[in-house]
Amino acid sequence: MTKKQCPVCGGVHLKCSFVKKAIGDNEFSLVNYVCDDCGEEGDFFNENDKELSKALVQKHLEESLEILSRLERQKRNFAGIERALNIPQRTFSKWKNKKTKPSAPAIALLKFLDVFPWLIDVADNKFDKIAADNILLKHVCSLVKKPGIDRRIIYYNDESQKGIAVSFFHTTTRPGAQRYINEK
Ligand SMILES: [Zn+2]
Repeated sequence: MTKKQCPVCGGVHLKCSFVKKAIGDNEFSLVNYVCDDCGEEGDFFNENDKELSKALVQKHLEESLEILSRLERQKRNFAGIERALNIPQRTFSKWKNKKTKPSAPAIALLKFLDVFPWLIDVADNKFDKIAADNILLKHVCSLVKKPGIDRRIIYYNDESQKGIAVSFFHTTTRPGAQRYINEK
């Protein structure tokens, strides 16, 4: 076996050490080389790639478990969601009990369901576009009622246009562009 060389100066006086790095709830030991000849340091031979990708997979898995717990706390019915999304029965429970692991696309889906829980209702309505629009509007209305969100309604009736302009905005931000409804 040839001696490991510094990728910068070609020197062979390398010191190898391990540094601890926290990713998610786990701590990983990552290799670090320091070249005695030029002072360069780092993971010269990409030995950490495998460890890092393992850590990321672990982090996403843990996040998906947290989402499943949250869905349970929100009393979302697993069987109902699985039915709506055409997922085999007890899939969520198997993930939660670590009998099987969700795939990367499944984890992405869980994250969407976590951020946009009304997507389950969209699926429940067989992805019908009009039903989906109505579910979205209902969600927007529920957001508008929340504290911290304000709205501005302006009635227009002049020579060029007639209608109502409504804008919604977080009170911590400036009002965004107005959207015209029932514009004539
Ligand atoms: Zn060097």
